Amino acid sequence: MVSKLVSVLSLTILGLVVSPVVFSSPVHALSAHVRCLQDQLNAAGYRDGPVDGQVEDTTRGALENFARDHGLQIRSELTSDNAVTWCRRLGLNDPALRAYWPSARRPVALSIAHDIPRDLAERVENRLEAEIRSLSALLGLDLSATDDVIVVRNETWRESLPRMQALRGAGDSPFFAQAMERHCTGTNRLGGWTVSGLTIFCLRNDAVLGETFSERDLRHALRHEAVHLIQHQVSALRVRRINETPGWDPHELPIWMAEGTAVILEGRYPAQSAVSTADRRLLSTFDNRDWPDLRQLETRLGLKIDYDGVYLGGAVAVSYLIARHGGYRALGNLYERMGEGRHFDSAFAEAFGLPLAGFYDEFAALGRTGTDGLLSR
Ligand SMILES: [Zn+2]
Repeated sequence: MVSKLVSVLSLTILGLVVSPVVFSSPVHALSAHVRCLQDQLNAAGYRDGPVDGQVEDTTRGALENFARDHGLQIRSELTSDNAVTWCRRLGLNDPALRAYWPSARRPVALSIAHDIPRDLAERVENRLEAEIRSLSALLGLDLSATDDVIVVRNETWRESLPRMQALRGAGDSPFFAQAMERHCTGTNRLGGWTVSGLTIFCLRNDAVLGETFSERDLRHALRHEAVHLIQHQVSALRVRRINETPGWDPHELPIWMAEGTAVILEGRYPAQSAVSTADRRLLSTFDNRDWPDLRQLETRLGLKIDYDGVYLGGAVAVSYLIARHGGYRALGNLYERMGEGRHFDSAFAEAFGLPLAGFYDEFAALGRTGTDGLLSR
């Protein structure tokens, strides 16, 4: 009541039209994923313990027993980061358990800072859930979790740190601050970034919806991060720092694919045309630059080696895969196989019906024929 009063007063004093504080009670994204798992294990008779969101031995033991009885392989130890994928796998295995999926109540919990302009806040509120649902339908995936999305302003994001910490327990780490710095500044629009279960959007300095960025830009930004939320939820992706690259982790989605998929599915470039590759605008970006070597762009280090290659080359590659090798459903299938603990290369071969090495060679050959050749094939 007091805080409500304060915000009403500040509205009056500043004479601004801003949205009210809509931060709901803490959701604790990661512990909610563990609770989902604990609920299901209790309901299935594999556990009789408190639903407290803590990863401990009784939950691990119950999960091992459930997995053994149902033929589910455990390839890495249960953590709060991968609990979201286990929450989903148990429900997929036994439809009765899906009643415990948090998404049954809501797929996204949105928190919008009080100083985000009302028109932007309303559009995010109205669009985000629909975009997540349309993407999951396109990929043929049932989503299980409630993901958290926070919208803040560049000038005041630090005020939201306690909330970010409550959700991730990482709000004040240097990694977190660096990521906020990177996404809150730069071109005049809404920057976004995603870790498992959480997307943060930051409205940059001077960004104004309808002036420095359009409704279309907003939709693209929402869809881009929604793709990353889905990738994390279904594939149990690890969160890695840009320099943390002692070689390739086969459990990780290559960065060219993570970003290329987000670029294609955000809707800026069509992916499904009969021409089968990507649209001319996308391909023309390679007229004056080297064709990307996807093998060099698997880890996040790829962002330093060839940033455009990751995003635009990744988009051409993903568009090509969608058109020639199995459609959107194959992408969803890839994520599910990875969520089952498969390495990326075997999940890729199963989902698209061709070996990863073969695809890399095919893609390199496309570059040698030139983009005109690609369009006319
Ligand atoms: Zn991205």
